[in-house]
Amino acid sequence: MKVRDLILTILAAGIALACAACATQQTADPDYSKANFDRADAGVHLIRGTFEQGRGLDGNTVVLDAKGGLIVFDTGRHAAHTQKILDYAKRRGLPIIAILNSHWHLDHISGNPALLDAFPKAAVYSSDAALAEALGGFLAKGAENNRKQIAEGKLDPGQLEDAKSDLAAVEAGARLHPIVPLEETQTLTIAGRTVDAHFAKGASAGDIWLYDPKAKLVLAGDLITLPAPFLDTACPIAWRQGLDEILAQPFETVVPGHGRVMTRADVTIYRDAFSALVACARGTAEATICADAWATSVAPLQDGAETDGRAARGYARYYVESVLRPGATPADCPE
Ligand SMILES: [Zn+2]
Repeated sequence: MKVRDLILTILAAGIALACAACATQQTADPDYSKANFDRADAGVHLIRGTFEQGRGLDGNTVVLDAKGGLIVFDTGRHAAHTQKILDYAKRRGLPIIAILNSHWHLDHISGNPALLDAFPKAAVYSSDAALAEALGGFLAKGAENNRKQIAEGKLDPGQLEDAKSDLAAVEAGARLHPIVPLEETQTLTIAGRTVDAHFAKGASAGDIWLYDPKAKLVLAGDLITLPAPFLDTACPIAWRQGLDEILAQPFETVVPGHGRVMTRADVTIYRDAFSALVACARGTAEATICADAWATSVAPLQDGAETDGRAARGYARYYVESVLRPGATPADCPE
């Protein structure tokens, strides 16, 4: 696939999702340390996002218990992912009372309308400024490309389903806006549950990540993603600062935007590998050298599937060649 076609495919998929050379098949793993994370004692339940060959991704969702209801952090892309959230609420016999979106990428917000259909009183919290900017720019372009690709009729059934659902999510953009805009770091108390909502401009122009003192847990959104950082709309320097800020919290566990649950040692490895990847991309080494170094560094953080290394290498090479090197992301990101 030519780089231009690849970029268009990625735009069509909304964000960093369909790099054919990068894709791999991850299998669900119910093991606490690697894939699933359920801490009834702290009122935390993880719904892992999927990562299927040739398809758009779903971000991880975390559901937190609050007084009389549930707080949902990120809502996924596909209907099947959103249904898992609804099924969990049903199993618990509790309403969803709040939705927090880590950022506006479609693999984290597309499930909002379905959750709001089921729980119309749920309050949505996110960066409205970044969403509004994206709806007028990146997401509008992606929607235009999706319409074109659907009309051309060349997509395979999975890609067609993704293109249609991404298009529907953007066309329903008015329903994605928050009731409570978050544009700076602040402490939130939602139905008795207190979390620190941190604001960053790393993966997007409005990232929200949470520190939950009750569970000593960070919900990082896409400031931490595997198999690679999804740099399409990123500011690398602010991203790196965000990783330092995460590491400054007294957390025990981190749930990333994509990938398995992590420890403090894991996050340190991730931050150092991220810095090395960006530095390598700014230098003169072959992109494959940068990508190989990334894949080697993050190998201990992956789920352990045979294809993990290939996916890490493929994505990292793509971002070095097609995003970091062409200067699509500035070296410094003034306001
Ligand atoms: Zn994501």
